[in-house]
Amino acid sequence: MLQNPLLFAAPADLAATLLAALFGLLFGSFLNVVIYRIPKMMQRESDNYVAAESGKEPPHTERFNLMTPRSACPHCGHQITAMENIPVLSYLVLRGKCRQCKAPISARYPAVELLTAALSAVMVWKFGSGWTGLATLLFLYTLIALTFIDADTQLLPDDLTYPLLWGGLLLNLNGMFVPLNEAVIGAAAGYLILWTIYWIFKLLTGKEGMGYGDFKLLAALGAWLGWTMLPTIILLSSVVGAIVGIGLIVFTKRGRNNPIPFGPYLAAAGLIALLFGTPIASMTSRLVG
Ligand SMILES: [Zn+2]
Repeated sequence: MLQNPLLFAAPADLAATLLAALFGLLFGSFLNVVIYRIPKMMQRESDNYVAAESGKEPPHTERFNLMTPRSACPHCGHQITAMENIPVLSYLVLRGKCRQCKAPISARYPAVELLTAALSAVMVWKFGSGWTGLATLLFLYTLIALTFIDADTQLLPDDLTYPLLWGGLLLNLNGMFVPLNEAVIGAAAGYLILWTIYWIFKLLTGKEGMGYGDFKLLAALGAWLGWTMLPTIILLSSVVGAIVGIGLIVFTKRGRNNPIPFGPYLAAAGLIALLFGTPIASMTSRLVG
């Protein structure tokens, strides 16, 4: 019988877990670049497209991707050297300031690195250092990137949601997490559920509560975790969203009408569902039934 890794996860040895944390620290540093640059790359592409459509010269001609140009201080343009780019450590040594102009560096950079390191360790601890564990790292890294990009820009780029969706379906070809039929139905149902809620909400209130990126993200989560996990994911994202949303209204001056991106809550719910979804689902079905 095929063992469902969502049910039976053998803790990997400590060495693999520590290695995963170290790798996560480095990859978190790359995720900071992804989070910062992908929205800018999309903006440039769309600016150039608009210009080309109206017969103008493209405004952005210099190369700008995840690799070029090298990272620089946004205030003074000082190029960040390898020594200033060591995850977390450089931030501590530089005391959170640019070495040249002393402009503050956002604490979010080391925070993303630490978060990625900690969650990488959790994934490998729970799912092992084999293919399943590696797959959960891809899941994790894409969700971290999507979370922060959505928080910053209210966008969930197709460049991330689609690979996550196809990746989930491909990995489940042989039932890595769930049987393929559950994955395919999960992808379609995930999209349709939020699409339906979106249109009901829009017809009733005239407002747009979420975007198409959210539908694609829930479709991707359904592709990875199967349709049976969708109710748990939606429940978890609402709970996390309500807690954070109330917190934002109470503790900050953010008004109730300011749009709050939904992607981060879906992403958090997807991760919680991957780690604890099976016990949560059986608990809620016992409460309901
Ligand atoms: Zn500077």
